Amino acid sequence: MSLGPTLPDSTGVLVVGGGIMGTAAAYFLAAESDRDVTLVERDNVGAGSTGDSSAILRHHYGDEEIYTDMAHWSHEFYRSFEAETGQAIAHADSPLVRFGEEGTEAGEYAAAGHDALAERDIPVTWYDGDELPDQYPMYDGLEAFDFAVSDDTAAYSDGTDAANGFSRAPPTRARPSSPASPWSLSPSSTARSWASTPRTAT
Ligand SMILES: Cc1cc2nc3c(=O)[nH]c(=O)nc-3n(C[C@H](O)[C@H](O)[C@H](O)COP(=O)(O)OP(=O)(O)OC[C@H]3O[C@@H](n4cnc5c(N)ncnc54)[C@H](O)[C@@H]3O)c2cc1C
Repeated sequence: MSLGPTLPDSTGVLVVGGGIMGTAAAYFLAAESDRDVTLVERDNVGAGSTGDSSAILRHHYGDEEIYTDMAHWSHEFYRSFEAETGQAIAHADSPLVRFGEEGTEAGEYAAAGHDALAERDIPVTWYDGDELPDQYPMYDGLEAFDFAVSDDTAAYSDGTDAANGFSRAPPTRARPSSPASPWSLSPSSTARSWASTPRTAT
């Protein structure tokens, strides 16, 4: 790995933006293809929405089952992030609860999310209204709700940590024998360049 003031002369893929999307795309492209991948960031990795995220990792997306599937896959990757990438990441398990009222749009969303998780054996608990005061004694006003749905394996994980982890990690996921890859920096942007063979940034 080397640091330099300029971008590479050529690259197979150029990813613009070092948020969680760009860094993850660059990481997986580098790890699972033979293309050279360069990531450019105009400010700092995680400088955009990624740095403002509330860090909630949940699986509950109402009846949007594809989001549940994507979130579950992604969360499993977060759990193995350090083992996979060699980069530490802040991660703390924390169930996420939704309180629902029957006959409302929000209630239907919560109930549909329960069913989507249950069908996939993703841990989820349904609490009837009369169970809520004992289950959640820290909250007032629970008599307004008919039920609650707890996404039991939700968590918090820091987006900036993850974006930086992706941007620093060598793309060893699919190709464990890949050599360490070069960095390059330009005056107006930060660029990370991965190559399938060592390449000196000039
Ligand atoms: C307050 C808040 C709370 C949130 N809470 C959660 C949450 O709890 N859970 C959750 O899953 N999601 C949450 N989100 C949403 C999540 O943070 C975003 O969906 C996600 O971070 C978007 O990532 P991104 O990589 O697409 O964008 P960004 O993180 O914004 O990254 C874009 C990057 O591109 C760079 N860039 C832009 N233009 C150029 C250019 N021309 N050249 C080079 N670089 C450029 C920017 O500097 C930036 O770093 C939250 C968002 C906010 C704002």
